[in-house]
Amino acid sequence: MSEEEWYLIDLKSRFDKIKPNTYYLSYSGGKDSHLLYWFIKDYLKRDDIKIVGINTYMEHHEIRDRILKNSDIVLYPEMKPMEVKAKYGSPCFSKIQDDFIDRYQRGSRSKSLMERIEQRSFVGKDGKVHKSSFSLNAKARELLLSGKLHRVSPKCCKILKKNTAHKFEKETGLKAILGVRGDEGAMRKTQYKSCFTKDKKFTPLWDLSDELQEKIIKKYNIEVPEVYKYIKRTGCMGCPYGSYKGDTQKELALISDSQRKFVMEYFKESYEVLGIDTNIQMNLF
Ligand code: SF4
Repeated sequence: MSEEEWYLIDLKSRFDKIKPNTYYLSYSGGKDSHLLYWFIKDYLKRDDIKIVGINTYMEHHEIRDRILKNSDIVLYPEMKPMEVKAKYGSPCFSKIQDDFIDRYQRGSRSKSLMERIEQRSFVGKDGKVHKSSFSLNAKARELLLSGKLHRVSPKCCKILKKNTAHKFEKETGLKAILGVRGDEGAMRKTQYKSCFTKDKKFTPLWDLSDELQEKIIKKYNIEVPEVYKYIKRTGCMGCPYGSYKGDTQKELALISDSQRKFVMEYFKESYEVLGIDTNIQMNLF
């Protein structure tokens, strides 16, 4: 039996641990959640797990069309991106750093926050001196402390995605099946260490490697959006959170002129701070 076949048999045994009608598949239209979609629909042949997508207004059109096509239920956030920006500010450096900045810009000067912003050393529970591993980068710190930084906030993700999903979960009592994998980065590696999170979300792909995922996709001919030919992961169009890997610029090159116009307005100040070149044009779609 091949490695791919073994993995899918094991994945099936993981699904046997949940009561299907108490869970829904959180479907983003991306590679990981689509693998789960394929597994539920084509491999398990189950129709008792609802497929639920969120139209954040920020997806590549190809991904948005997949969400609309494959979801049983499409949810819409309570605010549109521009409303989030006007009320809270824009995403810029990373979710963690933007959270520190947001708290500072709203007036907090708590000891733990300032330790992170100023990257001060602190004495840990073990009595040793540590430097916080989660602190602001030098550029963010300089702009923030000199008052030159625009209004920054990580609330975009919270309002467009998290709150929308929470509201649905509260109304239906269903819990999410998430297509998240530890192989997607250091943060996820520490966050996802088993099939269930603390709040009982089901994360059955947590230990699936990039390599095995590709083999499964190839062997079973699972559909992959065109956009993945150009970028490794797709989130929202042009989100600056992908900028450290150069993904933001690549994404800007992939979208249409009208999409680019919207994205450049939404992330204008963040792009300026991050020095993102917005003039690349490829229009591959
Ligand atoms: S990934 Fe970026 S654009 Fe998308 S919801 Fe999160 S912060 Fe907003």
